[in-house]
Amino acid sequence: MMRYLRSLEVKDLSLNTSMISLGSCTMKLNAATELIPVSWPEFGGIHPFAPSSQWKGYQQILTELEDWLSEITGFAATSLQPNSGAQGEYAGLLTIRAYHAANNGAHRNVMLIPISAHGTNPASAVMAGMKVVVVKSDEDGHIDVVDLKAKAVQYKEQLAGLMVTYPSTHGVFEESIKDICQTIHDNGGLVYMDGANMNAQVGLTSPGFIGADVCHLNLHKTFAIPHGGGGPGMGPICVNEKLKPYLPSHVYDVPLHAGQNGQSSAATHVHAVSAAPYGSASILLISYAYIKMLGAEGLTKATRYAILNANYMKARLEKNYSILYSGSNGTCAHEFIVDLRPFKTSAGVEAEDVAKRLMDYGFHAPTLSFPVPGTIMIEPTESEDKAELDRFCDALIGIHNEIRAIEEGRSDKTDNALKNAPHTQHVITAVEWKHGYSRTEAAFPLPYVKESKFWPSVARVNNTYGDRNLICTCEPVSSYAEESVAN
Ligand SMILES: *Cc1c(COP(=O)(O)O)cnc(C)c1O
Repeated sequence: MMRYLRSLEVKDLSLNTSMISLGSCTMKLNAATELIPVSWPEFGGIHPFAPSSQWKGYQQILTELEDWLSEITGFAATSLQPNSGAQGEYAGLLTIRAYHAANNGAHRNVMLIPISAHGTNPASAVMAGMKVVVVKSDEDGHIDVVDLKAKAVQYKEQLAGLMVTYPSTHGVFEESIKDICQTIHDNGGLVYMDGANMNAQVGLTSPGFIGADVCHLNLHKTFAIPHGGGGPGMGPICVNEKLKPYLPSHVYDVPLHAGQNGQSSAATHVHAVSAAPYGSASILLISYAYIKMLGAEGLTKATRYAILNANYMKARLEKNYSILYSGSNGTCAHEFIVDLRPFKTSAGVEAEDVAKRLMDYGFHAPTLSFPVPGTIMIEPTESEDKAELDRFCDALIGIHNEIRAIEEGRSDKTDNALKNAPHTQHVITAVEWKHGYSRTEAAFPLPYVKESKFWPSVARVNNTYGDRNLICTCEPVSSYAEESVAN
């Protein structure tokens, strides 16, 4: 069993090999100290429906964590129930709906969502019974405030609110964010802030500070729970005083929230959004340890480093690549988008080729074609040191040199290291090698790769498989644009 598990592990290009720069996903290299308590029976052995008298210590941890998350977000209360960001969005939107219903606004069902939003935003809005109206972006990637104001006024009578990601998935801090929140409030709506990008906010600013009413946190992004491959996650929601009475309830949860000790009346709360009162409670210990060990100063430093690391990489890479979107001072937030679309015409190279080629350089690809098709989005996080950031930049610069060789006719347009990537050990060591570039160029493109080579276990797979087999996809936000309120 041990050897079998190990054989699976070596096929996986994970954070114990090199950085994973998945923009918007905040893939940190987390401390083992944060993870160890999950395996302790004192925590892992408690049934989610055990009577609260049997888990007083756990309750203390949950209460402290709720209080810290409320403080970090600048809000009044937290629900640790939702199991993912998307479930947090759903739960948060239910609280907005319940608030409107209690304030003569049961008919308010229009949710404004910027085009740059994560696909879960419109999906959650639809699940919560809302109608989606899409707001445009301007050329710099910011929300088109003119369009937003026009739509807020147009739907004034039906407006439930706005879902906004801050900093945006374009990797910029919306400079008009306070104005945007005010506009929504002026027109009778509430503001849901998608907190997936809290890694760029903690300690420096907060959803409460900018004027939002509710947000979710991805504890499995910002607060150190390791993720990937589908879970497990935790997506608590934090709310202001207005929405506090509507946080999710649970039939087995006597004090509705560990921190509230039954102060609020059960009647106003929305129904449970997950099976267990505190979601995947055991992994909350990871975020608890992360916050406790870093403290306010450490958390703020982490945010500063996350932003600094992204801007360092951006500064190195913008000599070779064009970077989409930045703030008015030329900086990005904690992530940035590299435009690879020009290389399609100049060299026949697509974003996917770059993503595959990065494996030969020992790196997991960044986020591919989100939120802009044909681009990659890089988020280094605070957990990488300068040497690792430099290796990743060197890899991308090396790849740019390979693209240039194709553009200049020094490499073949179809038979090159990018188009054939990734190269497996089997391919590299085969007797036959028919390519116009060397095995060394293919497998060891830079000196650092020789020191610790990661071998991809499979070569390029057949992408058209998906065309012939039914596979579930995430619709782009723009596909919701037409329907909006027409129906
Ligand atoms: C990850 C993410 C979500 C969804 O969170 P899950 O935990 O994956 O459901 C929502 N919005 C943004 C911007 C994200 O990056």
